[in-house]
Amino acid sequence: MTWTNLATGGRILIVDDAMENIQILHQALRDEHDVLFALSGEKALEIVQQQMPDLVLLDAVMPGMDGYAVCATLQGAPSTRDLPIIFVTALSQPEDETRALEAGAVDFISKPFNVAVVRARVRTQLTVKRQADAMRELTLTDALTGVANRRSFNETIDNEWRRCARSSLPLSVIMIDIDHFKRYNDHYGHQAGDLCLQQVSAAMKRCAARPHDLLARYGGEEFILLLPQEGLAGAEVVAQRILDEVRRSAIPHAASDTSGLVTVSLGIASVTPPADGTDPVNLIRTADACLYRAKQNGRNRYCKSTED
Ligand SMILES: [Mg+2]
Repeated sequence: MTWTNLATGGRILIVDDAMENIQILHQALRDEHDVLFALSGEKALEIVQQQMPDLVLLDAVMPGMDGYAVCATLQGAPSTRDLPIIFVTALSQPEDETRALEAGAVDFISKPFNVAVVRARVRTQLTVKRQADAMRELTLTDALTGVANRRSFNETIDNEWRRCARSSLPLSVIMIDIDHFKRYNDHYGHQAGDLCLQQVSAAMKRCAARPHDLLARYGGEEFILLLPQEGLAGAEVVAQRILDEVRRSAIPHAASDTSGLVTVSLGIASVTPPADGTDPVNLIRTADACLYRAKQNGRNRYCKSTED
């Protein structure tokens, strides 16, 4: 069930077992926000999975799954842990408020409510959430190239690893290094070196555009590409595309004895993660060993692991 508006605000999910409460809140918020609603806790969790709201207004007392149980479920899952929840309830004792805040709610509004107060508090919590999202984005991005940073890669591969293990799907990583980058910096200077890193990472990003693919700067001139649900053959196609795309960028490299242009070397490793709790460390190590072989074999090429 959904009412959609072209409002520029957020997407708000109202959860209440009483339709009249939903109607009042909907009227208070619809001009500013995209409003969804659910008449039960169970339905609320379904809607969250399908249409991820920016904020939940949650009734505490409902038959079946009550607000505290909904809150605990959302808090317990990594994908919904940061979803702000405001409890809206007729309970008005300090201990009710405490219980809501301890359950993980960001705010508490008592019924009967004043719509101006609801509007203001929703606005405040949306602002806080956007600031937190922006901050998180900053901490997960490499400032120079705009691709993910190593920390973000580590978090993501752990999640994707478990996801692929659960569904017995392969996962590949490609370790990528810019050839003779130290010579590039020595020859052209560090500012040109920074520009080169930006151009090469942009070229590589164009080669791995599926929603779950993740390109990260692993350190210095080293990058790593995560390809969930992709086996060795698919990863090879991506690696070849990267070689071609970097070549097409045609960045001159007068100090390279591999080519007159900037090139990259790549190491590919692929595995179907076992369901035994093993971590991805060995996969990354294998990709790194393959990258080393690509360097040994003359650079501007990829090498792959023999196991799939
Ligand atoms: Mg109720």
